[in-house]
Amino acid sequence: MARHLITSALPYINGIKHLGNMVGSMLPADVYSRYLRQTGHEVLFICATDEHGTPAELAAQEAGLPVSEFCAQAHDAQKAVYDGFGLSFDHFGRSSSPQNREITQEIARELQRNGFIEERSIRQVYSNTDGRFLPDRYIVGTCPHCGYDKARGDQCENCTRVLDPTDLLEPRSAISGSADLEVRETRHLFLLQSKLTGEVERWIADHGDDWPVLASSIARKWLTEGLQDRSITRDLEWGVPVPADVWPELAAEGKVFYVWFDAPIEYIGATKEWADAAPAERRDWKSWWYEADESVRYTQFMAKDNVPFHTVMFPATILGSRRPWKKVDYVKAFNWLTYYGGKFSTSQKRGIFTDVALELLPADYWRYFLMAHAPESDDSSFTWDLFASVVNKDLADTLGNFVNRVLSFSRKRFGDDVPAGAAAGEAEARLGEQIAGLLAEYEAQLDALNFRKAAQALRALWSAGNAYLDEKAPWQQVKTDPEAAALTLRTAMNLIRLYAVVSEPFIPTAAAAMRGAFALPTDGRTWITGEEARALDLVPAGTPFTVPPVLFAKITDEDLSAWTARFGGTEA
Ligand SMILES: [Zn+2]
Repeated sequence: MARHLITSALPYINGIKHLGNMVGSMLPADVYSRYLRQTGHEVLFICATDEHGTPAELAAQEAGLPVSEFCAQAHDAQKAVYDGFGLSFDHFGRSSSPQNREITQEIARELQRNGFIEERSIRQVYSNTDGRFLPDRYIVGTCPHCGYDKARGDQCENCTRVLDPTDLLEPRSAISGSADLEVRETRHLFLLQSKLTGEVERWIADHGDDWPVLASSIARKWLTEGLQDRSITRDLEWGVPVPADVWPELAAEGKVFYVWFDAPIEYIGATKEWADAAPAERRDWKSWWYEADESVRYTQFMAKDNVPFHTVMFPATILGSRRPWKKVDYVKAFNWLTYYGGKFSTSQKRGIFTDVALELLPADYWRYFLMAHAPESDDSSFTWDLFASVVNKDLADTLGNFVNRVLSFSRKRFGDDVPAGAAAGEAEARLGEQIAGLLAEYEAQLDALNFRKAAQALRALWSAGNAYLDEKAPWQQVKTDPEAAALTLRTAMNLIRLYAVVSEPFIPTAAAAMRGAFALPTDGRTWITGEEARALDLVPAGTPFTVPPVLFAKITDEDLSAWTARFGGTEA
């Protein structure tokens, strides 16, 4: 059995994330982690909040809180939502942790020792009123090309031209609105990525073919444009400080590392946080990351905009450290989930946010819909009509109704134990073959990280139960041949037991309810073999059972119109 290291791209600290963020990294990483754990693999599933940088500082300012306090609260708020979604992180850390600081500083020292860091002077806009250097996007002014008066220092969003802050007419601070700006000389550390281009190219040539096209094509495109040296420090209060033992002057000036330098290192930092959180368990974080042997397979999940950082820039940092840190084996990237064809937007509050989603419906509804419509090969669009039809058809009718009618009918006719009935016949043998085939398909798609196809196979497993039930019609059989009806119901209950196990990666709460229906001795069962699927005798006759409450309620027309009105269900 392999040891699977799984990371999801780190959600930024500022603001609750929307459903597009959820399906683009954290949720598929959770489904995959659960599946691997259930099939007997050792899994370490790591995520964290990405906490440094100007947006966090400004949000804290707006909230009237010290930035450390703001981040602590925002971290807890995000963590609560992810718990609500059933995300089974082994650790959900914070990039502002002492562990990440220590490892980030150590990697910077090694890059310096190996000649990949250089100190350079640059000219940057300083705001006298704000008492700080301004990042390009925090300078606004009039675009010299189109006259738009709210152009940002990095780009004009009206004519989309890329700008330099000094291009802007009547520049002012986006923070205070002050025009009291000047250009000052300031020194920063640069990571000499240009010197690492060849190594990164060779590494991608060796590994990129194994990645899905979406990830490898983005990485290669980025490389053909050439790796530029990039500034890895900023004049900010909030960040990992430049270590004073190597750069005493820069440290004295209060320079911190740029958020994009320390954020991916937090994958390692959070793993150390995980180990430090339980000293008695002697968790060996280094065995996952440092001189990790070939049994460790590292899979990263992210949206496509994050691919360059994970496949090119972070590997360049790791390669330049000349230390045996583990590098990614498989990059699973996602396109965008859109809201009625337009962008979900945190800043414009467009679409559905994860905390609000959980107020409307339990997590399983969202988990199943999002994974069944994951933006894998292309963008996919959320609409309320589509969501309601998938929930009602797949979850309420195909799965939920099957479970409920089988158990209720059996209890009514045969009492509180699984009935024995006749011996399995030809129909049951055919069903077993079909179920075993679909289970193999489901496993193959999950092994290949094809989530939409995996969801299709899962739905096909549920449908097979319905087809069998319709064919045998136990409510008719019972009138003439109670033994035959009992066989049908016992077989259907075995399917419920199978669904309880194999549906867990997608819908863990409903899976637990299905599991709980049968009073089976604890058998530690986590998965089902093809053989067992074919035999369909996981639940012996005589096993006591209960009828769980309705697993999935239907979304009504009233719900639909209320939600469409509340969230705006129209084309962008
Ligand atoms: Zn413009």
